[in-house]
Amino acid sequence: AELTRSYSQFQSILATMSEGVLLIETEGEILYCNPTAGNLLFREPSEVNGKQLWEIMRTPGLEAAIELASSRPGEEVRKEFELQRSGSIVEMSAVQSDISSGAGMVIVLHDVTELRRLSRMRREFVSNVSHELKTPLTAIQAYAETLLDGGGLEDAENNRLFVERIQEQSDRLQQMIQDMLRLSKIESQADAFQLQPTSLTKIVESCVETHSAIAKAREITLKFHCNEKNSIDIVADREGLQTVFDNLINNALNYTQGHGIVEVRCWHENRKVFIEVKDNGIGISQRHHERIFERFYRVDQARSREMGGTGLGLSIVKHYVNVFGGEIAIESEVGRGTTFCVSFPLVEQSL
Ligand code: ADP
Repeated sequence: AELTRSYSQFQSILATMSEGVLLIETEGEILYCNPTAGNLLFREPSEVNGKQLWEIMRTPGLEAAIELASSRPGEEVRKEFELQRSGSIVEMSAVQSDISSGAGMVIVLHDVTELRRLSRMRREFVSNVSHELKTPLTAIQAYAETLLDGGGLEDAENNRLFVERIQEQSDRLQQMIQDMLRLSKIESQADAFQLQPTSLTKIVESCVETHSAIAKAREITLKFHCNEKNSIDIVADREGLQTVFDNLINNALNYTQGHGIVEVRCWHENRKVFIEVKDNGIGISQRHHERIFERFYRVDQARSREMGGTGLGLSIVKHYVNVFGGEIAIESEVGRGTTFCVSFPLVEQSL
């Protein structure tokens, strides 16, 4: 009875571990495989038992690592590799028990795919940021040098123009840094927001109003339509919501030619509220839809820069929408226009 109890205790510990565990004997035959290791290797544990390790994990360098571990009993040998079947990245730790006890080798597999993906994203982010900051900075340097050298300051025709360019580029830098700080705030302190019932419809209406002068100047018709008579509330942060709709409306105006139409609509359905920002502008081809919310992802670099864009707007929008429990979807066709549709769960007493 004692043995059975202790066996089932070990079984349940091994079965519920988030790490994969394999036990192999000296010749490489698998004696035990827990369910997590089975999942990682895409096999049923029963199917794996009795097989050779190399039969189910064909990975360069694995054999050498196992050999090394078996030559050093009690010492941990670590190796990271990619599983061919699933593409998951796994960190393996192998420890050979004392050979005289005949207990074999314990292999622990830890799925580090997500960790590696995050650290790759961080590296990419740093390199993107440096690149993005470098562009306006190089321009500022070039204009300043031209002004200082070769009598640029005395060149009455161009000196003002150069200073204006310097100002433009510093504004860009400022905007980019503000956007990056905003993104990092949403990401790192999502729970620090003072989320409270906020009138979504009023905020959207005021964002439309704020943009009406720009729309007029660019000869774009900007319309707002809301089916609801009363204000609709959602649980959110006022400033965050403003940022979301300012960005979407601003993009719609930026990527729509003169005489175009930008429509903002609001309605509710099945305890959700929907806000749609629709334009009949240049559109976005299907292949970009998946990546459009990534930081610094732009369809047309030159056009985005020309419009003063930082490539961070949609990424900020998506983060905010998620913090407020909502979702965002895009529909777009090149040459016909783009629709961004945002939905949020309604506050119970609203309506
Ligand atoms: P940006 O600051 O460059 O506008 P965003 O993150 O707001 O950055 O948008 C990313 C890219 O998505 C833009 O560079 C543009 O190519 C595309 N985009 C966004 N909104 C629209 C739209 N309404 N119509 C066409 N393209 C758009």
